[in-house]
Amino acid sequence: MSNQEHERFAQWDAAFVLGALTPADRHDYEHHLEQCSICRDAVGELVPLPGLLARITQPPSQKPEQPAPADLMEGLLLKQAQHRTRRRALLGRIAVAAAVLALVIGIPATLLVRTPDANVSVALAPAANTYTTMSVDIDLEPASWGTRLAIECAYPPNSGYSYQSPWYGLLVTDNTGTTTQVSTWQAVSDDVVNLESATAVDLEDIASLSVVTSTGDTVLTAPVELN
Ligand SMILES: [Zn+2]
Repeated sequence: MSNQEHERFAQWDAAFVLGALTPADRHDYEHHLEQCSICRDAVGELVPLPGLLARITQPPSQKPEQPAPADLMEGLLLKQAQHRTRRRALLGRIAVAAAVLALVIGIPATLLVRTPDANVSVALAPAANTYTTMSVDIDLEPASWGTRLAIECAYPPNSGYSYQSPWYGLLVTDNTGTTTQVSTWQAVSDDVVNLESATAVDLEDIASLSVVTSTGDTVLTAPVELN
């Protein structure tokens, strides 16, 4: 390989890496690469360039030290412009996709967001044929995943108070009649117990709440009616 031949191809590395050579020039350059380690090294250093070009928004301001042939520079600049155009198009598609996602996810989320006024407070009443001094108030707060329950359980001061049960449980019954137990707690005398609980049942699907004894007897109950 003559030095003259290398001089002919010395500036072609970037255009080759960027795919800017004509098929004929590319064929000639590939043939030259087989014989010229200088150009092979130059190409090896430039291989990451297309990826870098795709990430930058401005072309490098510095000029090449030796001007490349005009048609090659044109090809390079065209390639860079195409990279930028493709990048802008990609960013545009990402923005559209994000907007579509926001619509798909955002609209139901907006519908699910309810104001604090949507909270429901329920004071449970003694069940039929039951006597209890325990009083239970429950605030129900709708959530995207179901309903949050804040349970306040008060036992009046009463030295003669005898527990009806070692513990109590709260049952949630939905509109289909399905009942799930969401909390249990021990009875305590002369105290107020605050419990946080939760159920997967949506607030509008909760039909009633009941407090039961450890043996399953209902002591307090109330229907849940939306405001
Ligand atoms: Zn060479």
